[in-house]
Formats: sequence, structure tokens, C-alpha cells
Amino acid sequence: MVRFSQYVVSILSLFLWGEPEVPPAEGGCLLNNSSALTATNQRSNASKSIAIVGAGSAGLAILKTILDLPQETRHGWEVVLYEQRRNVGGLWLPDPNEPQPPKLPETPLYPRLRTNTPHPTMTYPGYTFRPHTPLFPTHEYVEQYHVDFAVNNNLTSYIRLNHTVHSAGWKGNSTVGEWVVEVHHTNGEVKSITKRSFDHLIVANGHNHYPRIPKFQGTDEWYPERYVNMTVLVVGGGASGRDAVLQVGPIAVKTYHSLKEDKEPTPDANVTVVPRISHFTRTSIVLVDGRSLDDVDAVILATGYEFLVPFLSRPSSDQDASVGLVESPKTTLNCTTAPTLITNLRYIFPLWEHIFSLSQQYPPTALSFVGLPVLIANCPSDIAQALLIAHALADPSTLPSRAEMLADLVAQESRLRERGYDPYYAGHKMVGGDDDAQAYQNNLVRYLKQKGRLPDDGKDYVEPWRRIARKESFLLGRAWRRIEDNGEADKWLDGVETEDQWADLILRLVNWQRKHEDKYGLHGSVYVGQPWDESGF
Ligand SMILES: Cc1cc2nc3c(=O)[nH]c(=O)nc-3n(C[C@H](O)[C@H](O)[C@H](O)COP(=O)(O)OP(=O)(O)OC[C@H]3O[C@@H](n4cnc5c(N)ncnc54)[C@H](O)[C@@H]3O)c2cc1C
Repeated sequence: MVRFSQYVVSILSLFLWGEPEVPPAEGGCLLNNSSALTATNQRSNASKSIAIVGAGSAGLAILKTILDLPQETRHGWEVVLYEQRRNVGGLWLPDPNEPQPPKLPETPLYPRLRTNTPHPTMTYPGYTFRPHTPLFPTHEYVEQYHVDFAVNNNLTSYIRLNHTVHSAGWKGNSTVGEWVVEVHHTNGEVKSITKRSFDHLIVANGHNHYPRIPKFQGTDEWYPERYVNMTVLVVGGGASGRDAVLQVGPIAVKTYHSLKEDKEPTPDANVTVVPRISHFTRTSIVLVDGRSLDDVDAVILATGYEFLVPFLSRPSSDQDASVGLVESPKTTLNCTTAPTLITNLRYIFPLWEHIFSLSQQYPPTALSFVGLPVLIANCPSDIAQALLIAHALADPSTLPSRAEMLADLVAQESRLRERGYDPYYAGHKMVGGDDDAQAYQNNLVRYLKQKGRLPDDGKDYVEPWRRIARKESFLLGRAWRRIEDNGEADKWLDGVETEDQWADLILRLVNWQRKHEDKYGLHGSVYVGQPWDESGF
């Protein structure tokens, strides 16, 4: 059974910084935990105030991109990034505590997690992992990468660690207004609560936090009796499910893997593949084909996450402010009929390009999202999205009109339907995998070039080597395993530092492994995983 004990971080020189020397621009009041909120609404004198929520890959991307705007463009702007945890890195920062179900862990990270994509594909363009990072690194390297990125790009003074955005409500109308943001700052026993307003809110809160727990009839009665030498059923064929069967398979007495019809079994996994679950009885699990599993001791649900933004859906402490996002799992509204921004837990809509809220309640630049797309290389995609947001904040006429954006969204949804997908189920998934994901990023950046906001170099945003590296992730995984097994990692990594050198390494490895497999077949191959998809259920 996967034990979610804390992993000892030995190689990581984690850089933790304290509060910035300059006090936060916002006012606030110190309260004991038991005290009632009495903070008043504060406004800064900035010409434009922007709050970013979350210091994972997405939040750091938008913060850096805004700061990269020319000085004269962002003169007088105030940018604050609130992060509820003790450091940057988002889900790559381990939870220091043992899991205490049903309380959710701070992160879905698990101790033996390695990336399932080569790290050069996971980088912000132009900013590489440290020299000598293994091609498929353990999670500590990815955490360090984010810390390095924040420190080396001087982002830290804009980041308020241990600050949770509790609620954000819109006070205004479809053309003008402000976000009333309530922030809770925990520092030991003392909690300060701040209420202040911002012109723009950028949500980068991640979408791998609230587990999607399918409801099966009978789970209340089902009562597994044996927990030693377990027989385990893993549900879901996304990356987590596949990783779980690979990790549990070798140690469990028996492992079943319940997959939807369109999901491929995991190569090299020591499992019995079974179809979807129909329901539970007191002692068994009945599958949709009528078979019944009577020997299962534990079920691991690897069934993905729900798209929730609690602080946007919570009533604001300011009675005049309205809720920015409505949670409605069973909604029958759609992009054209929704009066507000809605999440059906799979899809937040209506959003233009998965970024800008087209809610009638506020202007399109008031609320934007970074990092919603699924099945995409996050950091480069985050930067492509961030470029569009930063330019739209600098000049709202960068965006088409709300009506044009809505028409574009409706057209995109109908193209998805023509391909056989329900957009309200597929949500933010790049259903065509890498091709769609790369076209998405290229289009965002091409749009800015066409608008004259970025110089047009005539090239696609996603470089050819990134495309090859994503496409050949399996092959590269097999190559890297061969290299590690032969103890030759250093030989390959020596002297590889710049982005060009990492790109060159990728291409050399692809050729090297392909030649080997042409000659010897897939002999000795090891499954390494697929580009990340946590929503395989
Ligand atoms: C287990 C797992 C493994 C993965 N492996 C890979 C991989 O190998 N390769 C790959 O390309 N992708 C992988 N991914 C995809 C992953 O989603 C991205 O790598 C990326 O790091 C996600 O960044 P994010 O910023 O969008 O979200 P997160 O990393 O979740 O960051 C969101 C941040 O927002 C903060 N936050 C949330 N709410 C609030 C609030 N109210 N107030 C203040 N702060 C708040 C959180 O504390 C967190 O720090 C993996 C995902 C998972 C779940």
C-alpha cells in the first residue's frame, strides 16, 4: 500500500524567506484566532492593483510576466501574490504533516513521485533546471526549480507567504468595480485578517486539490475486513492511477485496475485489468459487466480532481459584493445562458481561451485564470497565458469585445462537439493531447504578435525540440532508464546547462534510443508514464 509518510528531503537546499522587509501595502489588523473580523476595506493609491492567488507554476509565471512588462507600462502598478503555504512551488512543496483523512493533504504529492515527462519540457521558456538534474527527476528537483525561479527573478518581495485568500467578491458592474479580497495571514498563533480591494484578480490556485470522488451505490455498507497483505483495486487510468498500479502492484497480494473502455492497460504493471465499477455490496464490488470482486481489501480512487475555487464562491464579508463564481454541479446552463461564471466541477465557464471570465457581472480583465488547461506542459503554457493577461491588463483593447470572445467560445465548443466531445464534460482538457495543447499555446502567442503586442519572429511559440520531447516521452523514459541502469547519467549530463544544450541532449537521446530499439527491439524497456493527465476517470 502506498504510505503517504513524509519524504526526507535531503538533496534540497530549500530557500525559505520570511516576510518582506517592506510591510505589505495593505492595511490589516492583528487578531487572536478567536476574535471577530473587524478589518476595514483598504485601497491602495496604485494606478492599478493586481492580486494573484497561488505561488505554484502558474502564479509564478504570471507574476514574472507582469514584472517583465516595460517599466513605463507598469509604472504605478501594485502587484501582490498571496500564497497560503510556507513556500512557493505549489503542489511540488511536500506537506510536512502526516495525512489525517478526511482532512485533505496540502498537496497531492506522494513520496516516490518522479516526473513522467522529461524536465526540459516542464520549464518556463529560457529558464532551465539546474545542471545535472536527472531527465525524469524526483519531485524535490521540481520544487527546487520553482524556488530558484522565484529567487533568481526577484519575485520574492511580491509574494506574501502564509496568506490565504479567504474570499473575493465583486463590487461593481459589468464595466467598472473592484474586488473586495479578504486575506487571512497565519503566523504561529496570531492571525491577521485583511480586507482590501483590487482592480484585477488572477486565479492561479491549481486544480489538483479537491478529489473527485465518484458516488457508487453501496459504499456506506461496504466494509473491508483485511488490511494486511492486501488485495487492492485501483480506479482510474490517468497518470495517478497508472503510477499507483506500478507502485502498489509489486507489493500487494493482488492488484486490480478498473479502467474505462477507452483506456489502455498500463504496460509492465502486475495487475488484473477490470472494467468500471457498477456498485458496492457489503462485502464485494460489482463491476459493470456483472462480475463481482469479493477479495478487495482497499480501494484507491485515482479519479481526478474537481475544478473549485472556494474563495470565489464564498459570500464576501462585504454585503455589496457579489460572488464571482457559482458552484453548480448539475447546472443545465451553458456559455450563452449563464448569468454568472459557473463551475460544474469539471469546467469553469464562460471563459475565453480558458483564461478570461466573460461573466456579465464584471469587465473581462477583472478576473482571469492561469493554469486551468489539463494535458499540457504547464510552465510554458502558463507563460503563454500570462503574456496574454499581462498585455490585456496593460491595454484592455488587446482583447476582442466580450461579444466576440463569447462567439469564439461558442464556436470552439461546437468544434469540440463535432469531434465527439461534450465541452461541459471535457472541460479544460486538451482532448487531442499534445497537438491541441501546442496549437493552443501557439495561438495565444500568435494572437499577441498579430496585435503588435509582441515582435513577430515568424516562429511558433512551442519550439520544435519541445514538441519532439513531449511526443517521445516514452522513448526518452526508456533511454533514461537504460542510462541510469548503466550508471552513465553523469556522462550524458556533463556540460549540459543552457536551454539549447538540454534541447540538444533530448535530440541526441531520441536518436540514440531509437537506433538501439531498431536493432534490439523494445528489449529491456521500462514504462515511464505518459504526459500528465490526472483526469483519467
Ligand atoms: C501528482 C502530480 C504529478 C504531476 N506531475 C507532472 C509531471 O511529471 N509533468 C508535468 O508536466 N506536469 C505534472 N503535473 C501537473 C501539475 O499540475 C503542474 O506541474 C503544475 O506544477 C501545477 O501548478 P499550478 O500552479 O497550476 O498549481 P499548484 O501547484 O497546485 O499551485 C497552486 C498554489 O495555489 C495556492 N493556493 C490555492 N488556494 C489558495 C488561496 N485561497 N490562497 C492562497 N493560496 C492558494 C496553493 O497553496 C498552491 O501553492 C502533476 C500534477 C500532479 C497532481
